[in-house]
Amino acid sequence: MKELKIAVLKGDGIGPEIVDATLKVLEKVGEIFSVEFDLKEGLIGGTAIDETGDPLPEETLEICRESDAVLLGAVGGPKWDDLPTERRPEKGLLRIRKELDLYANLRPAKVWEPLIDASPLRPEVVRGTDMMVVRELTGDLYYGEPRGVFRENGMRVGINTMRYTEEEIRRVVRKAFEIAMRRRKKLTSVDKSNVLEVSGLWREVVEEERKNFPEVEVEHLYVDNCAMQMVRRPSSFDVIVTSNMFGDILSDEAGVVVGSLGMLPSASIGDRHALYEPVHGSAPDIAGKGIANPIATILSASMMLRFSFGLDEAGELIEKAVEETLRQGYRTPDIMSPGCTRVGTEEITERIIENMERLKG
Ligand code: NAD
Repeated sequence: MKELKIAVLKGDGIGPEIVDATLKVLEKVGEIFSVEFDLKEGLIGGTAIDETGDPLPEETLEICRESDAVLLGAVGGPKWDDLPTERRPEKGLLRIRKELDLYANLRPAKVWEPLIDASPLRPEVVRGTDMMVVRELTGDLYYGEPRGVFRENGMRVGINTMRYTEEEIRRVVRKAFEIAMRRRKKLTSVDKSNVLEVSGLWREVVEEERKNFPEVEVEHLYVDNCAMQMVRRPSSFDVIVTSNMFGDILSDEAGVVVGSLGMLPSASIGDRHALYEPVHGSAPDIAGKGIANPIATILSASMMLRFSFGLDEAGELIEKAVEETLRQGYRTPDIMSPGCTRVGTEEITERIIENMERLKG
């Protein structure tokens, strides 16, 4: 039996509740697909600060480095809001991405037919939307030098530098092509090459890599046009690849297009490590009440099965079971709509697991 090593970082707020729910789903996957998960827990965020003084203790990093994949809940909360930036829970998250060299952020945005009314767009526009935004995570304006606020001729001047090496572009573009090959084989590369030299280089590298993936249809869009097309024709996109800053904005836009925060999973991937987590935060306002929506975390685990373990069939079973549960009308309060059955974290998880059992081949 295959043994797959997962580092489990529950974090703060609703983190432990949604991760525990997800572990039950993984247990079911183990049973159905005859795989064994070796789970090792580590501290991160506020709870790690309380116990060790550090939002990302060395021991946690070690557990992550030795694992095949990391499953994370969420970090942060009002208790730690007054700490200096360097010691805040969120710092643990930024550090773990850097330490594990996670350079591609994957955010799928899929419309679930039973939740189609949660989208601010009309059903006929949004129906069938199923896109994946691949955002570069380690370069661009966020890290380029020089940066800072300087004085020039007695005036303050703010400077950030947009910078990418061709290798930084190539590795994320290649990842995006590989993902497109496993999906509908369409890639949209987003840049601003009519104005920015960095974007010119980005486009060149995409064209070079395209030769290695002749089956993938490629389109180039300027970022402003892409932002517009995403709300005009969201269902026409498959995989979108873009730089750090454009991706920061476009991935949030993609999330809004499909509706609910509690439904959005994500993955951050490098060459040796990968981390899977929901897009939402630690929701301190509902922590401990048993009503958190675990689906974003459960879908993050389904991405883990696909991307880290090659268990596409298991990932698909989870996604189908989630869709079926929604179709049956079960809803946590955040996605509640008239005529549906209101349930908590545990009950929706049980329904998903029952549906996995029913839908397995
Ligand atoms: P949030 O995403 O935690 O919550 C926003 C709203 O959405 C809240 O009303 C919350 O109850 C609701 N919500 C979020 N996830 C939900 C779920 N699974 N089920 C039901 N409702 C859900 O964002 P926030 O309130 O801005 O931040 C709270 C804390 O989380 C802060 O400390 C922030 O720094 C942190 N945060 C962490 C991450 C992360 O760990 N990746 C991301 C964003 C925010």
